[in-house]
Amino acid sequence: MNDCIFCKIVNKEISSNIIFEDSKVLAFKDIKPATKIHYLIIPKEHISTINDLQKDNQDFDSDIWSHMTKTCLDIAKNENFADFGYKLQVNCNPGGGQEVYHIHIHLLSEYSALN
Ligand code: 5GP
Ligand code: ZN
Repeated sequence: MNDCIFCKIVNKEISSNIIFEDSKVLAFKDIKPATKIHYLIIPKEHISTINDLQKDNQDFDSDIWSHMTKTCLDIAKNENFADFGYKLQVNCNPGGGQEVYHIHIHLLSEYSALN
């Protein structure tokens, strides 16, 4: 999508602090962190909202959803805060507080490696 800020991050037209990348997903630091750790996990493909994972109210795109969630778990394990704990959040549409219309999971934790 031409004017989508997260597509521009995927295409490296806008810089970001990338945590993890593979052929399907990208994980990067949120520009305005709400917690000590605040990452965003997005599919490389443009999908506007979590509602759009379900087409015709039937087929749920579980492939991309499981890949996104597995990426969160892998990052938490690799960065050693899986046992400490974290929160996953998806905002959907204006009523859910969504501001960027390219689906993303917020990976949030108050873990600090210094503690
Ligand atoms: P939403 O409210 O849509 O669930 O969250 C969008 C998130 O994207 C916000 O937490 C916001 O800080 C973050 N964000 C918006 N623009 C940028 C950007 O250009 N770069 C990065 N890294 N994060 C952004
Ligand atoms: Zn996009």
